[in-house]
Amino acid sequence: MRGPVAAVVPAAGRGERLGPGTPKALRQLGGLPLLVHAVRSLAEARAVDLVVVAAPPGGVGEVRALLAGYESGADVRVVEGGDTRQQSVRRALESLPDHVEVVLVHDAARPLAPAELADAVAAAVNAGAEAVVPAVPVADTVKRVDDDGVVEATLDRSCLRAVQTPQGFRRDVLAAAHAAEEVSGTSGVTDDAGLVERMGATVRTVPGSEEAFKVTRPLDLVLAEAVLTRRRASRGP
Ligand code: C5P
Repeated sequence: MRGPVAAVVPAAGRGERLGPGTPKALRQLGGLPLLVHAVRSLAEARAVDLVVVAAPPGGVGEVRALLAGYESGADVRVVEGGDTRQQSVRRALESLPDHVEVVLVHDAARPLAPAELADAVAAAVNAGAEAVVPAVPVADTVKRVDDDGVVEATLDRSCLRAVQTPQGFRRDVLAAAHAAEEVSGTSGVTDDAGLVERMGATVRTVPGSEEAFKVTRPLDLVLAEAVLTRRRASRGP
């Protein structure tokens, strides 16, 4: 099966944990906004036909102009994002053409996720999975704590995974999960696969990539600069 694949990029967050300034997706990394890196990588993926970006409220024109300045292999569109990540994803989903069958959702805040990761996720959905997430083993020991910071339990690390984006879905499954979320209005779910899990659908994993880390805090930006410098050096002049 090979249905048309669209990638949705929520990019409307303020990124307060990164410090004051422009919205996170528009912060610079190696001379380009995080969002441009993320969109380019998706557009380079062989599987992706269309990229839809959810821009910060009021920032649609600016984001359109920014992306128009960079050549990319896929059709790139921009819609206005919402107050929450889920609203941003929902708005982008609603704008997709009818023929799209597979949707990848990718954080603008993961600018260095390789194109091959998007291809691997799309391939797993095309092979029959309802939902697919890239996952990596957890390096730290993880504990559950109560409101006072007292440890309640130490979780078995061998069965824990940190999940990344792009996450891939059959379009009908993701749309149903978002529709259910809109009705129930409950939050606390921080990724799209979480919504799909709540509907009882099966979410599969594929191996994630070290370079698909999320830029959340200032130190992540330092790491991203270093990764980009190494990448550019290995590609040559
Ligand atoms: O805040 P967090 O790092 O989890 O955000 C993940 C992604 O969701 C980022 O790319 C951010 O721009 C996006 N987002 C959004 N709309 C919001 C909040 C976050 O598109 N209202």
